[in-house]
Amino acid sequence: MKAFKILGVPVHAYTMQEVVAELDKKIAAQEQTFVVTANAEIIMACQEDDSYNDIVSKAEIVLPDGAGAVWAGRHLGNKVPERVAGFDLYLELMELASKKGYKAFFFGSAPGVAEIAKEVCEKRYPGVQIVGTRNGYFKELDEPEIIQQINDSGAQMLFAALGAPKQEKWLAAHRDKLNASVLMGIGGSFDVLAGRMERAPKWMQDASLEWLFRLYKQPSRFIRMLALPKFVIEVYLHGDKHC
Ligand code: UDP
Repeated sequence: MKAFKILGVPVHAYTMQEVVAELDKKIAAQEQTFVVTANAEIIMACQEDDSYNDIVSKAEIVLPDGAGAVWAGRHLGNKVPERVAGFDLYLELMELASKKGYKAFFFGSAPGVAEIAKEVCEKRYPGVQIVGTRNGYFKELDEPEIIQQINDSGAQMLFAALGAPKQEKWLAAHRDKLNASVLMGIGGSFDVLAGRMERAPKWMQDASLEWLFRLYKQPSRFIRMLALPKFVIEVYLHGDKHC
């Protein structure tokens, strides 16, 4: 899939169905694929952090996550069929895992959260094999043991919920040592499944207002979310230069 660029960050215009089919093929072929769901915040972070930009640019699949990324892609003249949100793709992959017998590992979030997310998935997707969990609070010293735990579990899909950019940086730094085929950062998805964080109602998602819901629920994100208006201005003013 050819990438188009948003502020220099390559993005692939997959539909949800296409990306699930692509990842299914990669797992069957035991080929490793690093998936980044690039929202406006991630694209803006890439503008300020060269090492993060490099990591995202080298990911095999970068998806337009969030209304901002879809708007920017279209505004810059690209065909962007739909928004592929990280949380939605994660659930689609759970469904795929339950159908095909693929094994998944849940890494990240506060102690106990990944375990609840595992239980929720096991109820929702009967037969799904979540072969290991590990919380996301660790020291560098613990990393070899974490990698060992993930590899020993035989997981083909590794979901890392460490927040952006930490999750992408961690996966990129260790991908050579990891055996899983799908490596994907999923932010607060375990928190949502475990009922610790609410997702915006469907109508707000459809009205491109997920950011407003997030701001209302977590006002502490205000500073971080200033990236969104900056993103819009940057795309309007300098979008073409980066293409
Ligand atoms: N987290 C973690 N380890 C850390 C920092 C954060 O496991 O060192 C987890 C945190 O508990 C939360 C998730 O990462 O579950 C971050 O969620 P957020 O919604 O902030 O994700 P983002 O929007 O940054 O992708």
